[in-house]
Amino acid sequence: LIRLEDVTKRFGTNTVLDRLNFSVDAGRHVTLIGPSGSGKTTILRLLMTLAEPDEGTITVDGERLFPAPQKQVREVRKKIGMVFQQFNLFPNMTVLRNLTEAPVQVLGMSKDEAEARARELLDLVGLADKCDARPTMLSGGQQQRVAIARALAMRPRVLLLDEVTSALDPELVAGVLDLLRDIARSTDITMLCVTHEMGFARDISDQVLMFDSGRVIEAGPPEQIFGDPEQDRTREFLSAVL
Ligand code: ATP
Repeated sequence: LIRLEDVTKRFGTNTVLDRLNFSVDAGRHVTLIGPSGSGKTTILRLLMTLAEPDEGTITVDGERLFPAPQKQVREVRKKIGMVFQQFNLFPNMTVLRNLTEAPVQVLGMSKDEAEARARELLDLVGLADKCDARPTMLSGGQQQRVAIARALAMRPRVLLLDEVTSALDPELVAGVLDLLRDIARSTDITMLCVTHEMGFARDISDQVLMFDSGRVIEAGPPEQIFGDPEQDRTREFLSAVL
């Protein structure tokens, strides 16, 4: 579903992604781990077309992203939902409207259908009673649940998760991770997660990619990466974070 071939991204003289190759099959859950600054967030930003690669090819569902006609980019973006570290909810809209805005405006869904779906999703994330609240009235954990529900409201094929618990108070982390575990288990959505939560990565991943200096230095199922890594660099990283 997602394929990166020889993707290079530079910021000035800083080569952030260095001829990167990997792919994610439909329905799989892939986690990116690695030291801060190794380029993980940049990959998600490229997939969201928030940045462009300097070299290489990125395809999503068989459609090439760069270069691509605007229409094609819009179609690809509809297939991808993203949840950020900092929630990024629309502060001036109610929780319900945060969920209905894009389905109505971008997908052309009727208001009634979008609202019915939004209520279902808010129920799923345990916030059915917060429809009329403003995001600022909610805790960080609740805001992140709304952000997850908002991403799902677009019925994406792919969910990109960028360190979604990093900005949360420690006691709110487990609830959000449990919700994502449920979503991973109960839907066929493809997930690509950047996370520093190794327990979570171990639980939900089909494959873990260890990143360092803009390259995948090791890839494998979680049992292998966490249990018996091949690379010294992976071992060092895991012993520092676990
Ligand atoms: P973290 O875990 O800290 O989020 P990361 O692995 O996600 O790290 P990236 O955010 O992808 O790393 O950043 C990789 C490198 O690219 C860093 O050195 C960062 O300073 C640089 N970088 C990212 N975005 C920009 C930008 N817009 N302009 C210049 N440099 C950037």
